[in-house]
Amino acid sequence: MHTTLQIKSILGLMIGVITMSVFISACGQKVISHKAPREYVRGELDKLAPVEMKADLSRLSENDQKAVARLMEAARIIDELFLIQVSPSNPQIRSELQKSPANEDYLSLFNIMFGSWNRMEDERPFINKKAKPAGAGYYPEDMTKSEFETFLQENPELAAKFQNEFTVIRRREGKLVAVPYHEEYADKVRMISKLLDEAAKLTDDTSLKTFLQLRARDFLTDDFFESDMAWMDLTGDLEIVIGPYEVYEDQLYGYKAAYEAFICVVDHAESQKLEKTVAYLNEMEKNLPIDDKYKNFNRGTSSPIKVVQEIFSAGDTKAGIQTTAFNLPNDERVREAKGSKKVMLKNVAQAKYEKCWIPIVNTILAEEPLQNVSFEAYFNHVLLHEISHGLGPGIITLENGTQTTVSRELKELYPLIEECKADILGMYNLLFLIDKGVFPETMRNSAFASYLGGMFRSIRFGINEAHGGGVAAQFNYMIEKGAFVADSSDKLSLDEARLEAAIRDLSRDVLIIEALGDYSAAEAFAQKYAVMTPLMERIVNSLIHVPIDIKPIFPI
Ligand code: ZN
Repeated sequence: MHTTLQIKSILGLMIGVITMSVFISACGQKVISHKAPREYVRGELDKLAPVEMKADLSRLSENDQKAVARLMEAARIIDELFLIQVSPSNPQIRSELQKSPANEDYLSLFNIMFGSWNRMEDERPFINKKAKPAGAGYYPEDMTKSEFETFLQENPELAAKFQNEFTVIRRREGKLVAVPYHEEYADKVRMISKLLDEAAKLTDDTSLKTFLQLRARDFLTDDFFESDMAWMDLTGDLEIVIGPYEVYEDQLYGYKAAYEAFICVVDHAESQKLEKTVAYLNEMEKNLPIDDKYKNFNRGTSSPIKVVQEIFSAGDTKAGIQTTAFNLPNDERVREAKGSKKVMLKNVAQAKYEKCWIPIVNTILAEEPLQNVSFEAYFNHVLLHEISHGLGPGIITLENGTQTTVSRELKELYPLIEECKADILGMYNLLFLIDKGVFPETMRNSAFASYLGGMFRSIRFGINEAHGGGVAAQFNYMIEKGAFVADSSDKLSLDEARLEAAIRDLSRDVLIIEALGDYSAAEAFAQKYAVMTPLMERIVNSLIHVPIDIKPIFPI
């Protein structure tokens, strides 16, 4: 299999080169006509700290290790699939870059971004000057929204197929057509399916075997329902995600799913600790600082949660900023039947903590809180942030009796308010679980210090995005309450008693905005608190030397 694949990829490269020369002569234009200054590209590469992703595979059986090798081969094809999903001309640009060692930096950034657009800077092009098409490679580049919508009005029977997450839109003889992924990407999809089948035969883990067999089949039809169901039931040492999942790359409509893969080893001991946390879901809902009538006990609580070590990632998830936690599948039918699974990537979180987080707290915290920061507090806050998204109002009834949802009422402000809620409730619940003895009392100090220290990791990405805005709101709220204090050289410290009270008050404030679906209160809150102050600006500017994220390096 190794040889076949290698031959195929060499052939693929040759075909890429041939297509490229045809491309040049046909269009009379070069594949690469412009490059951003080298210093710019070098500077962007320096924003990402390289980290070797180590994971202990010795616990895996010999057969599971062999299965992992097959799965990694499949994941490498996922990389190739996502590359052409981003832009069909990507393979040509890459082979052009590969021709000269002088292009090394450009090629590195190209590989990290899966294309010529810098995902850390709003998709700014660094090769050629062309802006990235909003629909990436999923739609014809010259297709307008009005063309798409007019076509569907005239052909309503095709709407489902055109809006399906697993079709691409192409133009054939001047007419728009929807082509299923398994036809558009037939060769690669078949190779992946075959590798998954081989891995299924190798593994001793029966739950994984079932998932991989079904997944191998579903890749060939693009109906992933049954394998998604089987994925919810994985119980062994490996946690494997492979397929088309998230739709963020389709900025035109958000319909089309991007291929990605995670290959991870389960940390059973840590996962069990988390299960303990999940067992308190109902008590956490009961403990929310709002009137009982606003609490929400109707949500399913059976969703599994796992802590894993990432061995390999591919495609969408690897492009640009790395994923620390995910919540899948997205198929609502599976969510209704079984809920969803939360997966925390502990070695990714640890790497980000060491490379991007510690340098920040070293720069901005006063001596006392600095001594108290800890990875465990940081990691558990991230976890409780995720869990807290599932607490509090969801479906609400307005005073006039209308049944609606929080997101419908808060409209474009919903992401900001919801992220702010998850963050502050994450702290509120962490303190609650310390009171309950789930976490040690010693974590209290480090929870406070880590909460303060971690804020500028989000704020520096900008406050117009929901996470950064939500954190800015908390920071300004805490400053106003005297819970956070900046000294004359902008070093930050905290007042524990005030902070504990302010965490409770802010939790209540945002929960009430959500419970009432109160758009004007959300607007007033955002205008008052989700703002960049001169103090925040000075602190952000002092972090210019700190890497923004990590660049994972996977030892083979
Ligand atoms: Zn969140």
